[in-house]
Amino acid sequence: MKRSRHFDFIIAGAGAAGLSLVWKFLQQEELNGKKVLLADRALKPVRDKTWCFWDDQHHPFGDLIFHSWDSLEVRALGDVFREKLQDYRYHCVKSDDYAKKILTVARKNPNVMLLEADIGDFAFEDGRAVMQTSEGIFTAGHIFQSALRPPGFHKLKLDLSLLQHFTGWHIRTEKPVFDPAMATFMDFDVPQGNGVTFVYVLPFNRHEALVEYTLFSEKLISDEAYEKGLTDYISGRLELSSGQYEIEYIEKGVIPMEDRRYPAQYCPKVWNTGTMGGLTKPSTGYTFTRIQQHSTEIVRALAAGAEPPLQIMSPYRFRVYDMMLLYNLNRHPEASIRIFHELFLRNRFDRILQFLEEKTQIHQDLKIMYSVPWLPFFRALYKMKHRIFTGA
Ligand SMILES: Cc1cc2nc3c(=O)[nH]c(=O)nc-3n(C[C@H](O)[C@H](O)[C@H](O)COP(=O)(O)OP(=O)(O)OC[C@H]3O[C@@H](n4cnc5c(N)ncnc54)[C@H](O)[C@@H]3O)c2cc1C
Repeated sequence: MKRSRHFDFIIAGAGAAGLSLVWKFLQQEELNGKKVLLADRALKPVRDKTWCFWDDQHHPFGDLIFHSWDSLEVRALGDVFREKLQDYRYHCVKSDDYAKKILTVARKNPNVMLLEADIGDFAFEDGRAVMQTSEGIFTAGHIFQSALRPPGFHKLKLDLSLLQHFTGWHIRTEKPVFDPAMATFMDFDVPQGNGVTFVYVLPFNRHEALVEYTLFSEKLISDEAYEKGLTDYISGRLELSSGQYEIEYIEKGVIPMEDRRYPAQYCPKVWNTGTMGGLTKPSTGYTFTRIQQHSTEIVRALAAGAEPPLQIMSPYRFRVYDMMLLYNLNRHPEASIRIFHELFLRNRFDRILQFLEEKTQIHQDLKIMYSVPWLPFFRALYKMKHRIFTGA
């Protein structure tokens, strides 16, 4: 028989956003005792994503951090930029560790119910948020959902749309070839041709690293093309022949990079979050930190007896910067690589990370803008003026 139950809160989707939110709920004293339902089609820890982010606190997630780096390397146009970070650390969390820890704590909490079901839709009826699932209908005071695209998604204004797509190999080598203190943030010195292409290397120890072949382009490439990109990089840059490493794990992903403005709500009392809430930064694809910030804001508002924030977009000026960079990534890949080259040549890495995190002051933004080629930005400003001058 189909079930129908009422909760204070429903968290629909137990990926990065849903898990982060349930974790913050459980830590918020004022919300102790509230009945929470966490729903997903599968509630098992799976390693399918390696979430990286930077933070100015050393270990914001304590034992959930799989590895941290204090130095980063960027390569572009034949130059190598390496820097030890002063204010930030670059961290990574594995999706299976994250889910395991949070689901274990959630399962032990008598106020949290876990539900494996296919989520079909959300609605607002008789003052309650409603979730329809394959296991029945569930209602709540508030629903936070990261599972479904908001209604009218395809009608939202969209001028720039790129995909960040990648295949990563977690490799283990015989020889000690990696420096576990230094991650390669972006290596653009690889053949370009299918869009802006770079390799990202996350060494976990002297013998193991995740090597990710990444593109910003409109279309995906074939599995063979990712494989060739990785094999060529591992033999060329890392100087390892195919017999000198083993592939332990493969990670594939596609992250939307677009200027669509996602609505904060699916319908009254149902809030969008995660990728479905438009939390992905359009020009970089980074989402994890924004998910943490959004979850903190939601829980803080609820603890204070208020409604969750309706505004989840970046401040206007950062949306404009995102649009200008996205325009160049989309239409002028060669100019984009020159922009990255000048950016890392002329600015401290910490300042760039702070800028990408949207924490810089306007005078710092201007200094960064001044350090990169202007023409591509003026061109983007001109081409995107209809968006930029109508609220971005
Ligand atoms: C491989 C990969 C690596 C990434 N790495 C980074 C990174 O390093 N740093 C960063 O900042 N961002 C990264 N991202 C981007 C972003 O942080 C992730 O996509 C993140 O997982 C988004 O969280 P989310 O909760 O919105 O979506 P998800 O984590 O995808 O969670 C959505 C959940 O909803 C469930 N669901 C969906 N539809 C239904 C349905 N109909 N019924 C029931 N359940 C449903 C799914 O099972 C899933 O568990 C990465 C993305 C990918 C794909």
